[in-house]
Amino acid sequence: MEDAEWLQFLADIETPPEEGRHDLEPGPQAISEKAWLSAISETVPFLLTPPDSNVNTPVEEREENTIVSVSTAFLPDTVHTFVSGSPDLIIVSSDHVHFYVHKHQVLGASENGFNFLLGPISIRQVPCTGTIITLPETSTVINVILHIIYNVSCTHYSPSAGTMVQAVDTFPKYGIPISKYAAPSTPLFSHILSLAPYSSIEMYTLAASHDLEELAIPISSHLLGYPLPEISDDIAAKMGSIYLKRLITLHLNRLESLKELLLSPPPPHVLSPTSRCSSTEQQRVTRAWALAAANLAWDARPDLSTSAMISKLSALGESLTCTLCRDTLHERIKELCIQWSAVKTTI
Ligand SMILES: [Zn+2]
Repeated sequence: MEDAEWLQFLADIETPPEEGRHDLEPGPQAISEKAWLSAISETVPFLLTPPDSNVNTPVEEREENTIVSVSTAFLPDTVHTFVSGSPDLIIVSSDHVHFYVHKHQVLGASENGFNFLLGPISIRQVPCTGTIITLPETSTVINVILHIIYNVSCTHYSPSAGTMVQAVDTFPKYGIPISKYAAPSTPLFSHILSLAPYSSIEMYTLAASHDLEELAIPISSHLLGYPLPEISDDIAAKMGSIYLKRLITLHLNRLESLKELLLSPPPPHVLSPTSRCSSTEQQRVTRAWALAAANLAWDARPDLSTSAMISKLSALGESLTCTLCRDTLHERIKELCIQWSAVKTTI
């Protein structure tokens, strides 16, 4: 969570383990009700430091106190803004940041007891008490996962594309159904789509690897200018053959469509007795068009802009002395732009 802010509180390092020591060993750990209440009580001597942009600050030990990083989004006193009720689960990240959450919310989002860390057996064993689990993911990744589980946006933390990929890729492990949480109109769907202009291939690969077609389709429109030969083996493998083929087909189809559209030159205009234009002059226009179109098609990319097209073809009119020839040329260019804009831009 590069831009997240974190608070820190001081906890007494001399607290006996059975009274609330937050063991950082992996796996669920039940703590006594007294210790749990103490951990989330307002009487705990919280030391609210100024917002710290260094979110990955590890646990530090200073003299008699241990400084523990706590997520500002998932504090005991703030998490109820997402879901009512007091938190009864602490998730600790690999960089020792604590997230206070609701067990039922996490379990409700998971189809495998959150990677079997919070199964029913665990609940029976520790009724009415809190649970602590430590995950191998970093705080930046867990912050994204939890926001998704609570179905709220985390865009204000500006997680990077890499963080989003890491977070979503953990969904199968934690039994979180991606198709549900990344469905259109969800915060995750909107967030991934917002990253597409800047990290198009990463976001397309993410959507493709989880078969999120409704997400991959709009993202693909940002890949029209992407050089396909630069797709690495790893990206291609993760993307999968079907979505890779659809992307290649998109590029090829657009280039083919462009060539077909450029084949039609400006139509000849009617020769009037007063016009100084001749059929020979109009054939000259047709030849010039063919030459310019071939040049345009040779260098064309699937993301060719209409402004580049206009710039290239309008130059043909500069040498024309016939007003009608110039008019038909401009009409044809205008029509071509409309036709090019209508060519499909997504897989
Ligand atoms: Zn003419």
